[in-house]
Amino acid sequence: MSEKRLEGQVAVVTGASRGIGHACAEELARCGAAVVVNYNQSPEPAEQLAKQINDGGGRAITFQAHVGNADEAKALIDKTIETYGQIDILVNNAGVNRDRTLKRLSVAEWDEVISTDLSSAFYCTSAAVPHMTERNYGRIIVMSSIIGQMGNVGQSNYAAAKAGLIAFAKSAAKELARNNITVNAMCPGFVETDMVIALSDEVKKNLLAQIPLGRFGRPEEVAAFVRFLCTEGDWITGQQFNPNGGQYM
Ligand code: NDP
Repeated sequence: MSEKRLEGQVAVVTGASRGIGHACAEELARCGAAVVVNYNQSPEPAEQLAKQINDGGGRAITFQAHVGNADEAKALIDKTIETYGQIDILVNNAGVNRDRTLKRLSVAEWDEVISTDLSSAFYCTSAAVPHMTERNYGRIIVMSSIIGQMGNVGQSNYAAAKAGLIAFAKSAAKELARNNITVNAMCPGFVETDMVIALSDEVKKNLLAQIPLGRFGRPEEVAAFVRFLCTEGDWITGQQFNPNGGQYM
């Protein structure tokens, strides 16, 4: 049903070289969108994804930018406009975690997570909105997290950034609805990506015990929801969506 529904649209996915962002870019391209695959430190998988999309008859470019830097985030949107002339979909997905208990958390680790996970959404969104407003259309998604809803030991920086994204999405949704721009927050539970693979076996075992559906999520499951918001979400804005296996209800 969603096959090629996004033909003629242009999507920017931040942090699309790996994990959930990679799956989102792949899914949006599968539905016909031209995709800008943003990466920061992993050029190879980003290039590979763009090649795969282009070889399959789609359209994709890669663009290196540390989206926690306002100038680089703006350059990403500028490049999108220069290449494709428009931006319809923005998935603010890029994120890092620097987990430490409060006792040990440094100012640098606080700042890095806040700028990469939270400020980046403001930088990219504010650069994209004038172009969306011009065409009276936009679908903006922020990649929050279950941790922004629940909090977690050793993740006060990450939880603050992810909770901030939810509040950002609601405020932006109210501001931008008049321009037919929707803004929603995805709040996934634990998804099998490098971020979760890096956890110790003991932590993973404890986490699995807290998930009623008994398994971690897959990046494709989050991407399918992101695609749904782009293909079917015309009357959905300011909401949080919780693909989390039932870990938080
Ligand atoms: P990964 O660690 O697998 O991938 C992170 C991606 O973000 C990479 O593509 C990385 O690019 C990119 N990235 C990191 N820093 C920057 C930056 N400064 N500028 C641009 N891109 C950057 O993470 P996930 O796929 O697991 O996570 C994706 C998002 O989903 C994050 O926001 C995360 O917080 C959120 N999330 C993840 C969950 C999970 O369980 N995995 C659960 C809930 C939310 P590169 O390698 O090129 O530097």
